Amino acid sequence: MASYQIRMFGDPVLTQRSGEVTDIDAKLVQLAEDMVHTMHDAHGLGLAAPQVGIQKRLFVYQLPEQEPVAIINPVIADSRGEWEYEEGCLSIPGLFFPIVRPKEILLTGFDLDGKELSIEADEVEARCFQHELDHLDGRLLLSVLDKDQKKEAMRELRRRAESVGS
Ligand code: ZN
Repeated sequence: MASYQIRMFGDPVLTQRSGEVTDIDAKLVQLAEDMVHTMHDAHGLGLAAPQVGIQKRLFVYQLPEQEPVAIINPVIADSRGEWEYEEGCLSIPGLFFPIVRPKEILLTGFDLDGKELSIEADEVEARCFQHELDHLDGRLLLSVLDKDQKKEAMRELRRRAESVGS
């Protein structure tokens, strides 16, 4: 098992739409395993393929006390309600913002055996799915922040960029 370096804010791979997975082969299974390993190293709840530089519609996630799961070509088929959650991103470490998104979603997709999945998710799990799907569409957390949150985030990211090398 190998671990990837997680791509950080500013990397163009994070702002591009990933393509559908067309073949579920041994290479893809290996990628999913390595992504789980990378997610564990970073203590994350979820990780999308573009975060390791691969533009494929695949993400992995793991809820506490559960086995890691890989989801291929995910689609949000339905969503309901509103829920606020302190959301962060492994590609923008250390920044968390209270963000309102749908509370429950129905996610469809495929597992690593090519079997169709349909998952009713609520709260943290639903939030994780929506966040990872955004990554597959090239959207970062920053795009769902309100104006003031975005200003604060950009200020912090500029501050970090300036402190590099000093
Ligand atoms: Zn993220």
